[in-house]
Formats: sequence, structure tokens, C-alpha cells
Amino acid sequence: GLPELPVRPISERRLSRRIEVGPVAVGGGAPVSVQSMTTTRTSDIGATLQQIAELTASGCQIVRVACPTQDDADALATIARKSQIPVIADIHFQPKYVFAAIDAGCAAVRVNPGNIKQFDDKVRDIALAASRTGTPIRIGVNAGSLDGRLLAKYGKATSEALVESALWEASLFEEHGFHDIKISVKHNDPVVMVNAYRQLAAQCDYPLHLGVTEAGPAFQGTIKSAVALGALLSEGIGDTIRVSLSAPPVEEVKVGIQILESLGLRQRRLEIVSCPSCGRAQVDVYKLADEVTAGLDGMEVPLRVAVMGCVVNGPGEAREADLGVASGNGKGQIFVKGEVIKTVPESRIVETLIEEAMKIAAQMADD
Ligand code: SF4
Repeated sequence: GLPELPVRPISERRLSRRIEVGPVAVGGGAPVSVQSMTTTRTSDIGATLQQIAELTASGCQIVRVACPTQDDADALATIARKSQIPVIADIHFQPKYVFAAIDAGCAAVRVNPGNIKQFDDKVRDIALAASRTGTPIRIGVNAGSLDGRLLAKYGKATSEALVESALWEASLFEEHGFHDIKISVKHNDPVVMVNAYRQLAAQCDYPLHLGVTEAGPAFQGTIKSAVALGALLSEGIGDTIRVSLSAPPVEEVKVGIQILESLGLRQRRLEIVSCPSCGRAQVDVYKLADEVTAGLDGMEVPLRVAVMGCVVNGPGEAREADLGVASGNGKGQIFVKGEVIKTVPESRIVETLIEEAMKIAAQMADD
């Protein structure tokens, strides 16, 4: 079973070593950052930069690009130079691309110790090159590509096996005085993954990159990631996160940001407090909540908007929010900062809420 761990408030984050991924600090109490990975061919520089621009606009702070071929390695310098956010090169199998990525000015390099052949022999040279340029290395262990030696020892990718692989690779770098490292130990099973990160957190002070690997399509992957990352982050474990979904990477970023906002690790932007509706509802709550969400999409200020179906909890929740509506009898009472400012017919609820939200946002921006 899982080890007994005391429940700690989120404010007590595990104190990790700090590394700098370009301008983004990871660990050492820095805010937890959200990252994603491009799905374009990295050698297609235009398409990759376009996707990075979309990711940047959605709030992504660090982006990783795959580097399976020499053409991809050749594209790294331009991508790293033109990207608005730090670029991490993701290297499997070929140590020579690690050197290429460092030379290309990538903000960091991810290596997978399980599948870089003769990786151990190359660690000294990698550590030297990375030290010279100040390039951090992520040791990214993945259940699907665990080092054969550990697979033989443990029989399968247990949490202990993942941790041992990561710490073994870290020790090889440490032998060369290199500590500019962050670690991930990903598994597709949230229970194994959570257990692995807990063990890892207790055994080293490196910053940790959290992720559930191969989490699945958007719905399942979102739940798995939210559960696993939520458990770890609420114990203070985790310095940067990547949500993996079989869906466009912008969706990963949205989920990652929501996870951090839900845990109070990042200031909320728009929050819709809407009721689930029930037999008492006097308006179509789902439609109303969707329309208000769509109408306020992209709002940057922290705003809590209550959308309530009837007068039972409606006025109470609407009063607690910055802005809200409590519906009843084909009308909506519109609340701003706890006061009813007007009552409008049902057909005008959405536009009135959006109007009032814009006014509040403008005021907040002035303050
Ligand atoms: Fe039902 Fe009213 Fe509560 Fe919504 S606010 S769930 S409609 S009782």
C-alpha cells in the first residue's frame, strides 16, 4: 500500500533545489510552471513555431520539442531563438542530439536514461557541455521505456524501479559535479506514479517535473492528471507540471492551469460557480453557464461569477461572488459585490452578466 504521510497544507512546499529553464525558475519555491509538448515535426520550423505561439497564448510557460532525427536537431537553433518561451529538446536513443541541443541554445534537455544506449559512458561529456552553457538536464524516466537492467531486477515498472533509475542517472551526473537537474518518474497508473514521486521527493532535493504519462484521451487524461497531480501538489511535491492528453497540446495547458488554480497555487482568473441544477431550477442552468463561460472567455482578471438556477442557494452564492445571477420566475436578479443591482428578464441574463463583468474588469485594471 501507499506509505502513511501526514497531510500538509499546500503552503508548505517541499524545498527543492532551484534550476533556471531559460527565464523560468523551477524549484526552490518558484511558482509551479505549466509545460506542454509540440506535436508538429520539429524539422518543420514554421509549423512548430506556430504551435509554440498558440501554446504561449494559452499560458504555456515551457515547451518541449521532440528530436528524433538530424533534421530535427538542425531545426533546434532557430526554434530556440524564435520561441517566446523556453524550449526543451526531448532526446531519446541518440546522445549526439543532446550535444546538438545544448549547442543550439535550448533552455534545457530532457534525456531518458532508459533508452539512450551507452548513455552512462556519455554522462561526463554531457555534464561538461551542459555546465559550460548552463543548460539544465531533465532526467525523464518513463515506465514504458524503463532501463532493461531495472526491468529485469523488479519484473515491471514499479515505483521503486522508476525511482532507482532516476537516482542512478542523477548519481552519474553528480560524480562529475553536475547538479543542474530536474527529474520526472512517469507512469500511466496514477497510484504508481504518486507513490514514485513521494519516494523520490523523500530521497533527493532535485526539482520535480510531474506528469502522468499516456494518460489517455481528453476526459480520462484530465481526470487521471488532476487526481495524481492534485494529490502530489497538495502535499507540496512538484515544481513544474505537464498534463499529457491525446488531444491538442493547448488543451493540456488549459488543464494544467486549472489544476494549479484549483489548488490555490496560482491566482484564479475567471471562475464560474454554477449549480448542478435540480428539480427546482427555473432556468436552463447548463445553457446559462455555458453561455456565460463562452462570453467571458479570455478574461484575465480574477473574477468569480455565480450562475444559480433558483432562489434556494442562488442569492447566497451570488452574494459571495463578484458577480452573480439568481434566477426565478423567468427573471434573473443580478448581484454585484453582494448587492442586487437589477432584475432582468431571462433573455437578458447573459448579456447583462457580460456587461457587468466588463465593468468590474475595467475597474480592477484601473486599481
Ligand atoms: Fe437546484 Fe436551486 Fe440548488 Fe440550482 S441553486 S441546484 S436549481 S436548489
